[in-house]
Amino acid sequence: MMLLDGKEISKQLKDELKAEVNEMLANGYRPPHLAVILVGSNAASETYVNAKVKACSAIGYESSVINFPPEITQEMLLQAIDDLNENEEIDGFIVQLPLPNHIDDKTVIERVMPKKDVDGFHPINVGKMALGLDAFISATPGGIVELLKRYEIETEGKHCVVLGRSNIVGGPMAMLMRRNTYPGNSTVTVAHSRTKNLKQICLQADILIAAIGKPEFVTEDMVKEGAVVIDVGINRVDDPSREKGYRLTGDVDFSNVSKKASHITPVPGGVGPMTIAYLLKNTMIAARKRL
Ligand code: NDP
Repeated sequence: MMLLDGKEISKQLKDELKAEVNEMLANGYRPPHLAVILVGSNAASETYVNAKVKACSAIGYESSVINFPPEITQEMLLQAIDDLNENEEIDGFIVQLPLPNHIDDKTVIERVMPKKDVDGFHPINVGKMALGLDAFISATPGGIVELLKRYEIETEGKHCVVLGRSNIVGGPMAMLMRRNTYPGNSTVTVAHSRTKNLKQICLQADILIAAIGKPEFVTEDMVKEGAVVIDVGINRVDDPSREKGYRLTGDVDFSNVSKKASHITPVPGGVGPMTIAYLLKNTMIAARKRL
């Protein structure tokens, strides 16, 4: 079994981006600037935002976090998005999800100008990606594709089973794996909560991508010998032995599935760091448009 080391590959990607920042500075341009809107104080969201800010500063990007209380009105949030859309000092920005229930995610996502939508959630970016046109690819599927590429995982003609069909992960992941390019050219099956015979479908997978948000859901009896297993899940499970009172686990039972898989991502240290690195890559693409 080979570990697909997202920590190591994300470091390579970030080093490359850092070199691009240095080149921009040497040519008299300002560095890329990523802004993040954070509504409320969801602990996991705060952790993700802190990690994004830290990653920006490590490679020489500017970053700004705009905090709002959970009771902010949708109108005020949309106004903040309009401000960022118009602010020429900001190359790209994201609205950290989830948002409070009184705010409509769809309306918020559609308000972000597509050329600054470095999360790749805007329907224009999703549509362009589906058509194989230049677009911001959402960071988690983009990061996974980058990981497959850098480990030279064969994808052509393989059966790829994607567990989960969310707009953020499973949906775009499936689109990317069926594209007529590398990584891609896979035969893709998308499974979800209404799928019947899930185990039999998973057992057919040469590449199994789990993005369902259920701790250790994928067990070894669901995985074919030699499969490539990508674990997107980030689940907090109670663990009184840890200082924080919890530990992070993926959607895959790593200790047993890793005995059967040819390649597998760990949690943490797999898809998570790749997601952040890919967000930085998208921000560089956005920044280069002003050069
Ligand atoms: P969502 O809750 O939006 O989607 C979950 C998907 O899994 C849905 O399509 C759902 O089906 C499907 N599903 C749920 N239960 C089952 C089941 N028993 N059998 C089959 N399918 C099932 O989650 P996300 O896509 O946003 O995230 C998935 C996981 O990935 C989470 O753990 C999340 O924390 C993690 N994540 C990790 C990131 C990273 O950077 N590593 C980034 C983003 C997410 P249905 O559509 O029918 O409801």
